[in-house]
Amino acid sequence: METAPHQVELAELSIDTRHYIGGIRVTSAQATGTSADHSPATFDSISPIDGTVLACISRGGKAEAEAAVAAARSAFPAWRDLGPRGRGEILHRLADLVEANVEQLAQLETLDNGSLLRSHRLGVMPRVAMNIRFFADWAMNELQHPVWQTRGHDNVVSWDPSGVVVIITPWNAPLMLATWRIGPALAAGDTVVLKPAEWTPLSASYFADLCEQAGMPAGVFNVVQGMGAEVGAALVAHPGIARIAFTGSVPTAKTIARAAAENLTPVSFELGGKSPLIVTDDADLDLAITIALEQYDNAGQVCLSGTRLLVHEGVAEEFATRFAQKAALIVQGDPRDEATQIGPQIHQVHLDRVAEFVERAEAAGARVAIGGGRNSELGGLYYRPTLLTDAAPGSEILTAEVFGPVLTLQTFATDDEAVELANNTEFGLAAVVVCGDRQRAERLTKNLVAGTIWVNCFFVRDLAAPFGGSKNSGIGREGGVWSFDFYADVKNTVYAPSGWKE
Ligand code: NAD
Repeated sequence: METAPHQVELAELSIDTRHYIGGIRVTSAQATGTSADHSPATFDSISPIDGTVLACISRGGKAEAEAAVAAARSAFPAWRDLGPRGRGEILHRLADLVEANVEQLAQLETLDNGSLLRSHRLGVMPRVAMNIRFFADWAMNELQHPVWQTRGHDNVVSWDPSGVVVIITPWNAPLMLATWRIGPALAAGDTVVLKPAEWTPLSASYFADLCEQAGMPAGVFNVVQGMGAEVGAALVAHPGIARIAFTGSVPTAKTIARAAAENLTPVSFELGGKSPLIVTDDADLDLAITIALEQYDNAGQVCLSGTRLLVHEGVAEEFATRFAQKAALIVQGDPRDEATQIGPQIHQVHLDRVAEFVERAEAAGARVAIGGGRNSELGGLYYRPTLLTDAAPGSEILTAEVFGPVLTLQTFATDDEAVELANNTEFGLAAVVVCGDRQRAERLTKNLVAGTIWVNCFFVRDLAAPFGGSKNSGIGREGGVWSFDFYADVKNTVYAPSGWKE
């Protein structure tokens, strides 16, 4: 089939590679009206599976950021005035469309970011639909508007839409992480400008088509594509935006925070982690090993991964031996194959970064118990699931986020020591505890510093529950009412008992 110059056919979908601003597809030159104000007009989206160039994507700059914010600002009053029910109808149609396209979206995302097709199909894309449906329903049915009296005066609380939300996302779970912010922002009555990660722009582009099909008015949802330091920086520095929702790394968050400070723009940051996974000596070791192996999911490119295995010294040897036996059975390969458990790293730059972390750890005295290198049988971007032991306390591999399939193992003698080791990090995103005694687990979790703690489980996520990171893992919490706390302007109106004409 012949395609237009800005159209590529992938996963049985027709993807438009241009920005989506004010309901119109524009190349960078068209958006600016001049080509003087932006860098090279396009960039390539490359598949991590085999290095194929999937698409040539419009690359935005300051002018595209301006155009997108202007479009979102002009769409805001009408979207705000639709109210939760009017918005909810459109958002439900959007969720229906995502559900109708789960298979195609799953294939597209797998091509673009190399995560398992199976998990996109069964878990991630259905959750994308849920991100939209859940928050639309929450705005309609759950948001409380409490009224209480102070000396005869009524305090009436409302959740007012706040304006334009800039959403900036990473590449490890592109559409899932984008809609986790888009869902509540749109449900709260805000309009959105999304900048997807430059390594994985495709699903966001198709999502814009779905928004249009759902009947979303032009300008309510906009996508601008490009580099973080170019269009991303221009968006977050824009004085006309109301909120910044950023998911990504700590260094980028610091840059964004500086830009946001200039306009006092409120931020919600979901950042990196170096989460502990504690295994006590009374733990069910089969369960502990199963949960520990899950930390390799998505080839280790998961912010929440419990990458620091902290195992009681009484069971550490048995744990390590049995863990190694199971890890040897992990099937690594093409993420589209049903049998594959671990796919490639996202990009050559990222693979090199992961490999260098392990090389430096070895040079500093750590021992490679499992893996420890690129998968030479597969070539490409595949890195073997790796376990390092004997790393020196405080060394880089125990403190920095690797964001690859690399775990470390340390031992502890007492529960107090486990907590101390667990908290000995700049991060505080998540923690996992595998323990045989509920009261002991409660004592352990009480002093762990983390936004989410899983006990004898991993990755159980309820959209109503608060989610976010402590310390350098983030600012703020989202999920349920916490999302609306961020995206809405919470207002208290006080009515006096007197002054009313009869
Ligand atoms: P990154 O910080 O490099 O990039 C994230 C996004 O920010 C990209 O879209 C990028 O283009 C943009 N960006 C870069 N510089 C910018 C700037 N100056 N201004 C505005 N935008 C800019 O992160 P990454 O490598 O894409 O993602 C991996 C990181 O994300 C890891 O640290 C991981 O832990 C974290 N993460 C956190 C969560 C969470 O929920 N806490 C979820 C997923 C990933």
